[in-house]
Amino acid sequence: MRCSWRLSVFKKCLGVNAVSDLRELYQEVIFDHNRNPRNHTKPIKVDRMSEGFNPLCGDRLTLYIGFDENGRISHTGFEGQGCAISTASASLMTEALKGKTEVEAGALFEQFHALVMGTSDIDPALLGKLQVLAGVQEFPARVKCATLAWHTLHAALHGEQQVSTE
Ligand code: ZN
Repeated sequence: MRCSWRLSVFKKCLGVNAVSDLRELYQEVIFDHNRNPRNHTKPIKVDRMSEGFNPLCGDRLTLYIGFDENGRISHTGFEGQGCAISTASASLMTEALKGKTEVEAGALFEQFHALVMGTSDIDPALLGKLQVLAGVQEFPARVKCATLAWHTLHAALHGEQQVSTE
């Protein structure tokens, strides 16, 4: 059986008592994306950009989005400095956005927000690898770190230059 990022498949893969293993695996992914953030640069094509700031933690980032001729996100990137959670979240988000339309990106924002807030109606298939950040719902102070990149995305898609999580 092939392990996938779907939580249900994961649990079957690892065995029902593997919750701590699962958590460890999630932490490894976050660690990896913090150490080697993907798309941590300004892309060659930029159609939308916004700056995000999380005063609680001091996380700061500038997000760049570029679209192809079919209206799908072809270029993503971010610059800035932040804690491990905010960096990993921005890295995972910039990967997840590629190929999405503006409407699909907006829907992903809603799904991710529901995931880290621990609210209902989450489609695990839609979230894929982003599920590794589900654990922050147990740490309310870190939710703003995990959602900073996403609030910045929301601002960029709505033509706002800046956003603060406060
Ligand atoms: Zn932070």
